[in-house]
Amino acid sequence: MKAAVLTGVDTPLEIRDDVEVAGPGPGEVQIRVAASGVCHSDLSVQNGTIPLPTPIVLGHEGAGVVEEVGEGVTSVAPGDHVVLSFVPSCGTCYTCTRQQGFLCEQAAMQAMGGLLDGTTRLTSGGAPLHQMACLGTFGSTAIVPAISMVKIPEDVPLEVAALIGCGVLTGVGAALNTADIRAGDTVAVLGCGGVGLNVIQGAKIAGAEHIVAVDRFDAKLDMARDFGATDVVNAGERDAGGAVGELTGGRGADVAFEVIGLKSTMEQAISMVRPGGEAVLVGVPRMDVMLELNAAFTFLYLNKTVKGCWYGSANVAEDVPKLLGLWKAGQLKLEELISREIGVEDVNEAFTAMEKGEVARSVIRYDG
Ligand SMILES: [Zn+2]
Ligand SMILES: [Zn+2]
Repeated sequence: MKAAVLTGVDTPLEIRDDVEVAGPGPGEVQIRVAASGVCHSDLSVQNGTIPLPTPIVLGHEGAGVVEEVGEGVTSVAPGDHVVLSFVPSCGTCYTCTRQQGFLCEQAAMQAMGGLLDGTTRLTSGGAPLHQMACLGTFGSTAIVPAISMVKIPEDVPLEVAALIGCGVLTGVGAALNTADIRAGDTVAVLGCGGVGLNVIQGAKIAGAEHIVAVDRFDAKLDMARDFGATDVVNAGERDAGGAVGELTGGRGADVAFEVIGLKSTMEQAISMVRPGGEAVLVGVPRMDVMLELNAAFTFLYLNKTVKGCWYGSANVAEDVPKLLGLWKAGQLKLEELISREIGVEDVNEAFTAMEKGEVARSVIRYDG
């Protein structure tokens, strides 16, 4: 099968036609990948922000059709349509049974770039290829854990379903699950890429009255307005903290989301929330980033809450149907997130378009 392979940090992805797929082992499922979003986290593996072993098939935001199931798999059957989850969620471990499926203990091996047992089912030229997030949706076939998918109705277009797997679950989940947004709130969103746009539409669903979108690209700020931002700030032209202060009579935002992953913008998000407000950190920082906060003012006198947000604090078995329900009710924009449909061979250009702020999402389609 054909796949886009990262062979080393800061190198272009190689498009290979010779990738061989071993059949699914026990507890695993073979998926014909129909569509994969190109997410900023794929780029973050390429540039070393997220360290993963190479060579590796990237891609962690996908949907497809079950082709074959391994021994013991009863949750899905051949022909089923599924959204792939970039975090496996077993439903039975300590965290899963405490409504924290996004921290499932089965996910521990993901950093090794293999499946749950640490090994991979892909080879190229006789050498093993790792799989990002137990998935690897930049390939037309994927062997993945059965606990890394949620079955969906067949009338949901798979290119739409794919986006739910990362950007929508993360962004909308940050607003609906992680944060505590109340009706009438003022929310600030720093970073309006694919995830940030979903934070914006999630904040709107949660009842925020004012949603201030902050980015350095006017094209992304235009998209932010389409997804529900009521005010936009180009951070290249204006200080975002000052702008949020002006919009709130000097008080600050009730909730601020950082969706970039930089020290400066994380600290800015925390500083721009009002006393008693909360900052939600969604962006993926490099491993060596440390924050500097005034402990007395941030946490004591101003009583701010700083929350981490991994995978939108999602429990995929419940959240995927919930998001599809919102989409069917016309409250959630999904088709509108797809800026471009591309072939897997165009993935390097999609990375460039993302870095230039030209797209919400490029979506890879496979011919089937
Ligand atoms: Zn992602
Ligand atoms: Zn679990």
